[in-house]
Amino acid sequence: MSDKRSRIAQATTLTAPGQGAANDNIHSNPCLSCGACCAHFRVSFYCGEIAGEDGNGVPSELVSQAGPLRACMKGTENGGQRCVALAGEIGKEGVHCTIYVQRPSPCRDFPAWETDGTPNPDCQKARARFGLPALPHIGEDDDIDPGSTPSHRDSEAA
Ligand code: SF4
Ligand code: SF4
Repeated sequence: MSDKRSRIAQATTLTAPGQGAANDNIHSNPCLSCGACCAHFRVSFYCGEIAGEDGNGVPSELVSQAGPLRACMKGTENGGQRCVALAGEIGKEGVHCTIYVQRPSPCRDFPAWETDGTPNPDCQKARARFGLPALPHIGEDDDIDPGSTPSHRDSEAA
């Protein structure tokens, strides 16, 4: 699979309350009432992202070991289950990541839209699983915030 981390994530948006960008709102950012990708994909990453003594990084109590040098957000090990850091109801306003500023790189780099305005098909797939509507293609003049959230899709849910 291609490395989706290379995609541009212009504005991460499955935020903790009050941490979104100024223009983050439920009408322009679909992530704020979604969270589907946090409950669909396995979220794994290099273990060096786990917080050390300085506290910077992903809280160690929220990760499990996925390999010699790989960690995984608890709950997502097998795909198809929600991440332990996800709070709120999927598909409802208020769903958010409780470790937003400490979330791992796959979560930071997962876009709802590609840079050309095309919806990320993996995002669409996760949304569809929870019965959420497909995102539209967006043009330059649309007032929609290109959101992003989680997932390293090395073990996608069935
Ligand atoms: S990136 Fe897609 S699946 Fe993930 S929270 Fe945003 S809209 Fe939902
Ligand atoms: S750590 Fe990642 S997968 Fe877990 S709730 Fe936060 S953004 Fe979602």
